[in-house]
Amino acid sequence: MIDLCTLGTGGTIPMPDRALSSLYVRVKGRSLLIDCGEGTQVGVQRLGWGMQCIDGILLTHFHADHCSGLPGMLLALTKAQRQETLHIYGPAGLTRVVEGLRVIAPQLSFPVALHELEGGEAFECIGLQVTAFPLQHGMPCLGYRLHLPHPAAFEPEKARALGIPVQHWKTLQKGTPVTLEGVTYLPEQVLGAPRRGLTVLYATDTRPVEAIPEHGFRCDMMFLEGMYGPEEKLPLAIKNHHMLFREAAALARDADAARLVLTHYSTSIEEPEEFLPLAQAIFPDTACAQDGMTWTLHYDRD
Ligand SMILES: [Zn+2]
Ligand SMILES: [Zn+2]
Repeated sequence: MIDLCTLGTGGTIPMPDRALSSLYVRVKGRSLLIDCGEGTQVGVQRLGWGMQCIDGILLTHFHADHCSGLPGMLLALTKAQRQETLHIYGPAGLTRVVEGLRVIAPQLSFPVALHELEGGEAFECIGLQVTAFPLQHGMPCLGYRLHLPHPAAFEPEKARALGIPVQHWKTLQKGTPVTLEGVTYLPEQVLGAPRRGLTVLYATDTRPVEAIPEHGFRCDMMFLEGMYGPEEKLPLAIKNHHMLFREAAALARDADAARLVLTHYSTSIEEPEEFLPLAQAIFPDTACAQDGMTWTLHYDRD
């Protein structure tokens, strides 16, 4: 199960009723954030899913609307007396940017580990298999694929048929072979078929790139930017390395995603729903995120 919340859905600058874009992701009581624009800590407090449990911050790029909330977040975690290492991931330049922001948040109660990525790396965070991939935003910018594996089910009748005593079942269930009286039993002898797990894709601040449908192939949920709605904004979208609603929808369609959620709206968009039909004409299962909106993904699509 994965819990998700769009803490903020704005791009460029915050508005009175729209915070800057950040996604809160929770798996089994631990959390990560994708992006941390100014004021993200307020959204975390309002949501109430926990501050202390944030183990990772995945930054897409270093425009201020995506990372200027970092010093405040680090201080809020210190106030919450965090002890464990916080892992921060981001594209080339991460060390320089975080060290710069740390000038105003020098003393923390916990260590910070920085992971500078080129795109293409895979790593684990809060039990999710994360893949970073390059986007096209006129500066180093990453999209993230989050995958929660779904372990194969243990089948007791198989274990019984092999005569494996009950006290060894858990070991096999966890994927470790067991040797009894010279005979080795492998986990696959007592487990069912592999299950597909859950996949979430997050990509904002980019022109459409092939890597998005590739990494988001048949994902359960795709978060893409809804920077501009109407067609006349296309030249601006190209100039500023952003997307139209319809371009995001075409990527979700190409990926055969289960659903698309748009976020990161331009300040020129007052009511995102007004432009939603432009996306739904191409990919019907599109929704517009709002600040504080939550979703829970279950393993029910197996
Ligand atoms: Zn942005
Ligand atoms: Zn940007």
